[in-house]
Amino acid sequence: MEVVTEHRATDRVQHAKTYKGSCFCGAVQFTVTGEPAAMGYCHCDSCRSWSAGPVNAFTLWQPGALQVTRGADHIGTHSKTPRSLRKWCKTCGGHLFTEHPGWGLVDVYAAVIPEFPYQAQVHVNYQEARLRITDGLPKMQDLPKEMGGSGVVLAE
Ligand SMILES: [Zn+2]
Ligand SMILES: [Zn+2]
Repeated sequence: MEVVTEHRATDRVQHAKTYKGSCFCGAVQFTVTGEPAAMGYCHCDSCRSWSAGPVNAFTLWQPGALQVTRGADHIGTHSKTPRSLRKWCKTCGGHLFTEHPGWGLVDVYAAVIPEFPYQAQVHVNYQEARLRITDGLPKMQDLPKEMGGSGVVLAE
């Protein structure tokens, strides 16, 4: 992760952009501010099963970047494992974000922040992929080393 001087960090906050997000029905609304720590596609079985989609486009943020602005009482939580607290709207069932307490990051699904300029950097858990994507980006077998994975990159 990039180290910034105090001055530049302040500068960044002043120019930080805010993007709106919401669930499928709009009962839950939130914002993310600044820049995510990482963005990419996750191909793991859990993401596929939870999202009912072939891959999950993730954006990982510091928890302070996320602010729920409406409908916090509509948010349900499911945690199959303590690694992931999955959040969804109890009214429409639409997915919102997943807290990863062990990493100190929250995954805000790119699909629910449509105005955010999402740009994938990496594919993770590619050994579990069902939908192969030949976009030239690195394909991690599981996770980067700094996130507890092997760091192994697979051939596309
Ligand atoms: Zn909803
Ligand atoms: Zn996943």
